[in-house]
Amino acid sequence: MAVPIRWKAAGKKTDRVQTKKSNGDPMSCLICAGVAERIQCRGPWEERDCPDCGRYRISDELLLVLMDQGQIFDVSKTRGWLDRRRIEVAIPSIELHQALLMS
Ligand SMILES: [Zn+2]
Repeated sequence: MAVPIRWKAAGKKTDRVQTKKSNGDPMSCLICAGVAERIQCRGPWEERDCPDCGRYRISDELLLVLMDQGQIFDVSKTRGWLDRRRIEVAIPSIELHQALLMS
């Protein structure tokens, strides 16, 4: 997969912004920062399918906070929360207020 050199050189700081705006490439997981698949979805959220965290959605509102403050999730707590949510819903959505409880 060809990635323009300028994007690579842009480095970590803009990484998450590109994650939000670009389509079709392997993305980083918003919880554990591993490689995850971006699922196309409609609505004010981002959807990821991570081999380690599973499939989940994160609201755009929360994503803005992530971009602003960097990683705010406690990975093991968040995965535990997702597992519990999956008993009730197929694809759990993480909202801002939930993320603050998990940080
Ligand atoms: Zn993950």
